[in-house]
Amino acid sequence: MAGGAAPVIVWYRLDLRLEDHPALAHAAAGGRPVIPVFIASDEDGPWAPGGAARWWLHHTLAALERDLAGLGLSLVLRRGAEQEVLGRLVAETGAATVCFNRRSDPPGRGRDLAIAAALAASGVQVLDFPASLLWEPDAVLNRQGGPYKVFTPFYRAWKDVGWPKPVARPRAIDWVDGVSSEDPPEAPDTDAVLPEPGEAAATRTLDNFLRSRVEDYHERRNEPGADATSRLSPYLKWGCIHPRQILGRLGRSKGEESFRSEIAWREFYADVLLDRPDTVRQAYQEKMRRMRLDTGATADDRFAAWAEGRTGYPLVDAGMRQLHREGWMHNRARLLTGSFLTKHLGVDWRRGAAHFLEWLVDGDIANNSANWQWVAG
Ligand code: FAD
Repeated sequence: MAGGAAPVIVWYRLDLRLEDHPALAHAAAGGRPVIPVFIASDEDGPWAPGGAARWWLHHTLAALERDLAGLGLSLVLRRGAEQEVLGRLVAETGAATVCFNRRSDPPGRGRDLAIAAALAASGVQVLDFPASLLWEPDAVLNRQGGPYKVFTPFYRAWKDVGWPKPVARPRAIDWVDGVSSEDPPEAPDTDAVLPEPGEAAATRTLDNFLRSRVEDYHERRNEPGADATSRLSPYLKWGCIHPRQILGRLGRSKGEESFRSEIAWREFYADVLLDRPDTVRQAYQEKMRRMRLDTGATADDRFAAWAEGRTGYPLVDAGMRQLHREGWMHNRARLLTGSFLTKHLGVDWRRGAAHFLEWLVDGDIANNSANWQWVAG
């Protein structure tokens, strides 16, 4: 801005927190004014957040806004295509640098690269950081230098790679006055009782799990009716917590070992998807693509009965009620309802996956499609 040091834009995405946030920490360390921005764009197409996730995003952004205010910053909300919005914001504010944390999903990663190149070509310094996985996909490779295709060897290598250092939460940062903001993404009306959004809720959820449930996690995580898992999935999905903050607090008990490997599944599936982006739409194994699906006249009715929780199978229907009521479903219920739809009712897994993405607050391209393929066989 005129007269002062050129500000730094921190572009918020799937990293809605202050703690262990590499882009924010880097921007703050430079001593220049910082402009944090979140851009609501519809560029994720079919992978855009569903209704439950939009509600959650709306309220998570409100929590982030409050947290940033504690550092002396105002969160700027803008709408539109990310590259154009960032270009305009740079021009408006005279920012010389844009810092952001990379996304690890194919649509997000593709845009990262294009946007970074366009900004750099216009003379803006672009600094991007890893922030949603312990290890980004190209850090854990097999002996041939390629991505792992099987979880167990991936997990062994993932555990052995080392431990990237967390970054400190900034204390106070200079802000730039007069940068206008637009409305946040809308929160659809809902009767559901969704998890509490935001970084503080993420930390509380983790504290609570470590205090009361992690010790027998390895046994009780398989009981669909028990409240025995962490419920951290929406916070991990939206980056209200970094996996490193979770892993750094785990010891070596059986429960903690088992929990660590579940966190690694999330990382494994992120790798799989980046290696094979086609698998969000088609089966990972080629032979499975030739499988005939039952698309007969009653397929829509069978799908509707499943989606509305009226199959007559109590456990399946209970799982679907949990999905609609809580925006979350227990892993065993996800496996069971998914298996029922695909193997018993013969419906295409992609229809089930799309329904889950509409209703889950943790709906995630990689975890959702990979798990759906798993249950569909
Ligand atoms: P915990 O048991 O406490 O596990 C801790 C964390 O490990 C989870 O928060 C999650 O980030 C990760 N994790 C656990 N299990 C898995 C798994 N099987 N695959 C990948 N990561 C895992 N998870 C999502 O985050 N988003 C989705 O859209 C999603 N869709 C799914 C669809 C189907 C059909 C199935 C079978 C599973 C799906 N999962 C998805 C994985 C898993 O069911 C949820 O991550 C888990 O139930 C979330 O509850 P939790 O946080 O209490 O899990």
